[in-house]
Amino acid sequence: MVKRISLVAAALAVLVPAAAAADEVNLYSSRHYDTDQALYDDFTAETSIEVNLIEGDADQLIARIKAEGRNSPADVLITVDAGRLHRAQEAGVLAPLESEILAERVPAHLREPGNRWFGLTQRLRSIVYAKDRVDPAAITSYEDLADPVWKGRVCIRSSTNVYNQSLVGGMIEAQGVEDTEAWAKGLVANLARPPRGGDTDQIKAVAAGECDVAVVNHYYLVRLMKSEDAADREVAAAVDILFPNQNDRGTHANVSGAGLVVTAPHKDNAVKFLEYLTTDQAQAYFALGNNEFPVVAGAEMEPILIKWGDIKTDKVNAATYGQNNAEAVKLMDRAGWK
Ligand code: FE
Repeated sequence: MVKRISLVAAALAVLVPAAAAADEVNLYSSRHYDTDQALYDDFTAETSIEVNLIEGDADQLIARIKAEGRNSPADVLITVDAGRLHRAQEAGVLAPLESEILAERVPAHLREPGNRWFGLTQRLRSIVYAKDRVDPAAITSYEDLADPVWKGRVCIRSSTNVYNQSLVGGMIEAQGVEDTEAWAKGLVANLARPPRGGDTDQIKAVAAGECDVAVVNHYYLVRLMKSEDAADREVAAAVDILFPNQNDRGTHANVSGAGLVVTAPHKDNAVKFLEYLTTDQAQAYFALGNNEFPVVAGAEMEPILIKWGDIKTDKVNAATYGQNNAEAVKLMDRAGWK
């Protein structure tokens, strides 16, 4: 009896994927937040398209799609940072996608000009400072961090980190290699310690008095503010955040984003899914999951972000961060940025 059931089950297992093949979409994602699952469930409820999720490190996912070649089940690649999306594009795994909905919903500077990827949330590279030691009026720009007045007072993570590479890529776009290199040298000369740890560690170092200012993505501070751990909340309470370059080009804005995989076996579903990600509801899920800013104006936002008020962001196309990545990495190396 037991055997018979398992035989029936085996037969079903063979039948079901074939029958369901048209009604699924396969996501390769390096994002993993609880709210993302709610979003996928919501998409399935609306469209009857099942979402199959394969999670992994961005570079591993790109390598996997390449290795799978024509037989790759991947329909959509989701990852963070325009620098990484550019890597995926360079690896040839993303297809151009003309979609009126995506073109209308995603601001032009937050999508790749060839439509190979689309920004879905924004993350701002901000400056966190010690409330008791720093007058926020003393810093108005990233450029200020190279001023000798900050000698021994700045924390920032390694130049191997793509967030910093994209920040430098954006500065190259704004002011050229020469000025950016001079800035990077000044920044390195002001470091309180050799770069180590992630963005959260830089905030903790400010709270601990190791440095007075740090460059971090905004959501790391929000995470500490909302933490269940009282020690994290104490760290957050010792610091405050400012958004540089409000008087000129705006704060560096990066994205998490997604693109259509060039070999997508369920292309129509993939397009539906990508378009769905720009609905107000999906934007809220996606942005709230990591305390990011939605790319679609008016979508629901974390209240802490709303309290920060209107922030001017750099409207340079985020694709330039990837295009300038190799130059940025070389420049940071020449500047002695470890
Ligand atoms: Fe991050």
